Amino acid sequence: MAQTQYDVGIIGGGIVGCTMLFELTRQGYSCIMMEKNQYIMSEASAGNSGMLHTGFDAPLNSLEQHCIKSGHKGMFDVINKFNIPHKTCGTVLVAWTEKQNEIIPELRQKAHEAGILDVDFMSVSELYKKEPFLRQGAHGTLFVPGETIVDSNLLGLCCAHHATLQGAKILTNCEVLGFKDRTLNTSCGPISPAVTINCAGLYGDLVDNLAGLNTFSIKPRRGQYCVFGKNLNLVNSIIMPVPTEKTKGVGVFNSVYNNLVIGPTAEDVPSRTRPPLCDPKTHNYLTQTGRWIIPELNSFHPVGQYTGIRPATQFKDYQIRTYPQLGWITVGGIRSTGVSASLGTGQYISEKLQSDMSLELNRGMAKNINELHWEVGNNNNSSIIIEGCHYKVPHPIFQYGHQNVESKL
Ligand SMILES: Cc1cc2nc3c(=O)[nH]c(=O)nc-3n(C[C@H](O)[C@H](O)[C@H](O)COP(=O)(O)OP(=O)(O)OC[C@H]3O[C@@H](n4cnc5c(N)ncnc54)[C@H](O)[C@@H]3O)c2cc1C
Repeated sequence: MAQTQYDVGIIGGGIVGCTMLFELTRQGYSCIMMEKNQYIMSEASAGNSGMLHTGFDAPLNSLEQHCIKSGHKGMFDVINKFNIPHKTCGTVLVAWTEKQNEIIPELRQKAHEAGILDVDFMSVSELYKKEPFLRQGAHGTLFVPGETIVDSNLLGLCCAHHATLQGAKILTNCEVLGFKDRTLNTSCGPISPAVTINCAGLYGDLVDNLAGLNTFSIKPRRGQYCVFGKNLNLVNSIIMPVPTEKTKGVGVFNSVYNNLVIGPTAEDVPSRTRPPLCDPKTHNYLTQTGRWIIPELNSFHPVGQYTGIRPATQFKDYQIRTYPQLGWITVGGIRSTGVSASLGTGQYISEKLQSDMSLELNRGMAKNINELHWEVGNNNNSSIIIEGCHYKVPHPIFQYGHQNVESKL
């Protein structure tokens, strides 16, 4: 017998699925989330930079920019309530050539057109006051004060946990294998929610195919990172190059746990699977790039590395579509800003459930966001306990952040 008591069935327990579950449960929908892996937050969402972007450089008037901006303020309410480590340190975009410097006014203009008005030029002398260990020779800088580092894995885990406290159900080791007449055929048996939301990230196109849909293809884009030790005190902000059409470029930043991190790369790859280690050539390239940007890093050696795969598609923008006749919503192609946009995406879908899917709620106010407290588990620094419940934390940044490995050469 299919389980039919749910308004919403969410496929995929990455950051998009977990925040969706949080938001829709809070709005009063009865929700179930199905995750094929043993642990939630373990695919694309376990290999990112962990930045809450402001959307200053997202394509103007894109859905991506809309979701980032609309969820931005609420995101801080959530991370404060859940005691998620974060730090608003801002980003400096550094032009290393005159040609790059010519692009900076355009980026500032674009940010202002998007309504992000605190993005401004920073003089080279101010830059070196802020970043005394930065290589000499910068031509110009754009400062984006709102950019924030966050533990995005904890954010997803806490959102999922909060949803369960408000009645949501999470099934792990539950793969969705088929879809017919609004019934999901899963490895845990049939489930028939009124509306299914495909948040399957790197597998979003394949899951859409199960519903007979074929509007985009996932083009996996790998990012690799090199991690140095903690508390090196060599950078104060997120130091990025001037972006190109294809990539934001390789940056240097401190994780929320104060490891110095270099990355990410952006490489189109055939595989959707995240390798645990960088390829040696890229690891060396990242180490040397970091040392070029911050010469003092020559006195330190990397203590770790990790990779992530972005669920990019042939399109620039997010692929969000509603199919009322199928009872299906696709939330796909959330490629490189999924953390920043996650809450806004959940809110956007909440509106779509009523406007497009006629899933009206007989509800009053949205439920409160309750405070959550968590502590590190005893399991090799890769788990947390949220109010008695154990969760694996798959993101290496959390794991490196809770180890003390000497980085000095
Ligand atoms: C290198 C890199 C750097 C990034 N940096 C940032 C950043 O700084 N800031 C930012 O905002 N964003 C960043 N991102 C983007 C962000 O990480 C992604 O947008 C986000 O993780 C995508 O989340 P998701 O939930 O869509 O996908 P996923 O995390 O992949 O989750 C999808 C889930 O669906 C499950 N699933 C798939 N198929 C099925 C099925 N058939 N049945 C059941 N479950 C299924 C998968 O197992 C998976 O757990 C970065 C990404 C990368 C890779």
